[in-house]
Amino acid sequence: MKLFNFISLLIIFMLSTASFSEQQNNQVIVVGAGIAGLGAAKELHDSGYAVTVLEASERIGGRIYTDRSLGFPVERGANWIHSNKLDSNRLMGLKDQLNIETHITPLSPTAFQLFNKDGDAVGLTEEEFNKIDTRIALAAYAASFFRPSSTLKDVIDSLRNFGLLSFAPNVVFQAYLQNIELSAAEDIEKLPIGALITEAEYMESAGEDEEVFGGFDQFTNYLSQGLDIKLNSPVTKIDYSSDGVNVYVKNIKYSADAVIVTVPLGVLQKGMIKFQPELTQAKQEAINGINWGNVNKVIFQFPYNFWGQSNNIFIEREDRHAFTTWLSNEVISGKPILYSFYSGDFSRAMEDKTDDFIIKKAMNSLRSAYGQEIPDPENYLITRWGKEPYILGSYSSAGHNQDDEKLRTELGSPIASKVFFAGEATSLNEYGFAHAALYTGLREAERLKTLLPQ
Ligand SMILES: Cc1cc2nc3c(=O)[nH]c(=O)nc-3n(C[C@H](O)[C@H](O)[C@H](O)COP(=O)(O)OP(=O)(O)OC[C@H]3O[C@@H](n4cnc5c(N)ncnc54)[C@H](O)[C@@H]3O)c2cc1C
Repeated sequence: MKLFNFISLLIIFMLSTASFSEQQNNQVIVVGAGIAGLGAAKELHDSGYAVTVLEASERIGGRIYTDRSLGFPVERGANWIHSNKLDSNRLMGLKDQLNIETHITPLSPTAFQLFNKDGDAVGLTEEEFNKIDTRIALAAYAASFFRPSSTLKDVIDSLRNFGLLSFAPNVVFQAYLQNIELSAAEDIEKLPIGALITEAEYMESAGEDEEVFGGFDQFTNYLSQGLDIKLNSPVTKIDYSSDGVNVYVKNIKYSADAVIVTVPLGVLQKGMIKFQPELTQAKQEAINGINWGNVNKVIFQFPYNFWGQSNNIFIEREDRHAFTTWLSNEVISGKPILYSFYSGDFSRAMEDKTDDFIIKKAMNSLRSAYGQEIPDPENYLITRWGKEPYILGSYSSAGHNQDDEKLRTELGSPIASKVFFAGEATSLNEYGFAHAALYTGLREAERLKTLLPQ
């Protein structure tokens, strides 16, 4: 009996370590079930390709993550459809097709209720805001030619030193800088004005921002319908050295004609997937050269609304990253919810702090504006995107590298007509956004169809 047990154990051990169980041949493997991967997979599936999606975590959606644990949908990741006027924004078409309702939320600093350090509400006239906007924009534009490596903070500081913005209170500049830092997921010091201006010019005609009723995951759930998706399947190796590709998950080998890799930039930067042959130096430089940012949210459900009608609130603090930007979710959820966004190194540092520490610090900020008597939250959610093992950050941003577009083009280029790359970081102009991620998935599906027709 003992001998029998030993032999069976030996067989199980040999099977689990020495051999890979062969799966049936798939034509295309998609790595990652975020919106880029699901978009690519659906497009190919609908065109008659046999597609398998391998997703490392136990859920689909990636950085689109609607949390329903409070009894109603709250977004841990993406919550706005940005750039609603762009032709390349395929979320808008899907929104209509799925009858998803949205609410337009203005997000510029002018849309914020401002509080200064003393907790006093600060009001600026539209004329004053226009003056600030025009002066900052002109100076930033000039700096992008003469000193492209300077930052928006340098530009604002120079204008203030020349007395050109002396009518405006400090909180306005904090709000301006933080607004950019949130959309870039990075500290202003790492965002050269050259890159920001290119981005701003592009975004000028991009349109408005829409919040989604009922959960952003309606998009990813729809795209996933009918697909063969294998959850809990972290890809560790992609071998494209011979015919086709072999993709390895634990002890399973998936063989296919081609693979589309859509994992977050942070996962590629960490080398969590081994490529055989190794990636070219140019590809590796692109992976390492693009800036990988960090943004998190603390979401509070209060017993009642104490902030009135304001949708967007900015509270001046010693550190402009420290729970200064607050948004109300009341229109969308119908509940008294405020959430704060924070970015860059502050956001990275908060990921190591306890929930209690974060709640206290966030409430200190709110109490500095609304008074000590406001209630504690009755429920909360705190994200730590940099600690999500298969995300490792939030989104890519216009980094210190002036060759950003070149790097992103290289990152998104296929290898040997069989290893394709999609995901938000491969978008040339719209990186960071969910609609851009979807677009890149569709882009690579089209490219694959041309290179490997049915
Ligand atoms: C806090 C936050 C707020 C945001 N807000 C907005 C917003 O309001 N509007 C907007 O447009 N965008 C927003 N974004 C950005 C948007 O969510 C992303 O740009 C978009 O969802 C990225 O999609 P993707 O498919 O490129 O990547 P992901 O969604 O990250 O998908 C990649 C998938 O790959 C999987 N994976 C990783 N490693 C492996 C592996 N080894 N094997 C298999 N699978 C693997 C991951 O688990 C993940 O599911 C926000 C992001 C964050 C974090």
